[in-house]
Amino acid sequence: MTFIPYGRQDITDEDIKAVCEVLRSDFLTQGPAIEKFEKTVAEYCGASHAVAMNSATSALHVACLALDLGPGDWLWTSPNTFVASANCALYCGAQVDFVDIDPATHNMSIELLERKLQAAESEGRLPKIVIPVHFAGEPCDLKAIKALAERYRFKVIDDASHAIGGRYGEFVIGGAPYSDITIFSFHPVKIVTTGEGGMAVTNNPELGVKLARLRTHGITRNPAEMTREPDGPWYYEQIGLGYNYRITDIQAALGVSQLGRLDAYIRRRHELAARYDELLASLPLKRPVRNPENLSGLHLYVIVLNDPSRRKQVFETLRANGIGVNVHYIPVHLQPYYRTLGFKPGDFPAAEAYYAGAVSLPMFATLTNEQQDRVVSVLSDALA
Ligand SMILES: *Cc1c(COP(=O)(O)O)cnc(C)c1O
Repeated sequence: MTFIPYGRQDITDEDIKAVCEVLRSDFLTQGPAIEKFEKTVAEYCGASHAVAMNSATSALHVACLALDLGPGDWLWTSPNTFVASANCALYCGAQVDFVDIDPATHNMSIELLERKLQAAESEGRLPKIVIPVHFAGEPCDLKAIKALAERYRFKVIDDASHAIGGRYGEFVIGGAPYSDITIFSFHPVKIVTTGEGGMAVTNNPELGVKLARLRTHGITRNPAEMTREPDGPWYYEQIGLGYNYRITDIQAALGVSQLGRLDAYIRRRHELAARYDELLASLPLKRPVRNPENLSGLHLYVIVLNDPSRRKQVFETLRANGIGVNVHYIPVHLQPYYRTLGFKPGDFPAAEAYYAGAVSLPMFATLTNEQQDRVVSVLSDALA
């Protein structure tokens, strides 16, 4: 019995060749593969600027800094996300709050966001940044969020760690004119991988320059950005405080090679989702919804059991049968660290209710129909 994980990378001989070429070249980092990786993603998304980094977490951090988030500011995100979408605010000395989810999409609720903004305005504590997360790859309603952003003057970073290759209406995720910066992750469980890696994309040239500088110590080599005439060709200036969040050329070459298969990956994920939809139709669970006007990246296929009291037993049965189910996500506000900041059970009831019954089934491009049938059969038996 082979183990079927919930997500896994697909590495081809072509990928290995691309990586080996970099290993034999002059540059292992800060070379041409990174630029090519950035250009490929920017062109794919229809964004003017792309800045590759060593993780999506790093990209979220510098995206917040590029939008001037700091002490005294608030950042709001969804409680149904990986902790990194919230931690980035704390790295900047800002405070975090959450907006509960829409039980249908598992994304941040637009209605609750609007209500919370109204209340925050009267209390004088509007957020500077809101981070909607395209959970499982299902696009958030970016246009509605943008309308609120204009009215309440906050910036939008969409966390598209689950959504590369997806579309919001006519726009490819990352190229829609409704957010300031979009973040991608290239962790091996995500849709395409670089081992570890992330990217920030934007259509704002000023933000593009800032993101690139923050990635590498706050250093510039562009004389136009310097405080004085260069001393000579060696000269650079540190004009702000940045980090070493660079990705390597080894990873970037893997990324470029993987991106060539992105559309095929998304198509296969949709085939698998359609099969799950059909095969699970009569079981006592809720299947995920997909808005036909958009295209989900389908990073995850999450079911919610009608009877959450059976979740643990169902999960254990699947694991015992070699099926690597997982749970996305334990609501961030319930993490012990976030509880020390004052959050408690009951704060975001929709995210908590969703979490109680959620199970992520195996979903990755190389999952076979036969493997999927085995997942469904074990799940059906476990629920019987
Ligand atoms: C994976 C993930 C991240 C973090 O990505 P890394 O590249 O591992 O830093 C952030 N947000 C979401 C929603 C994720 O799924």
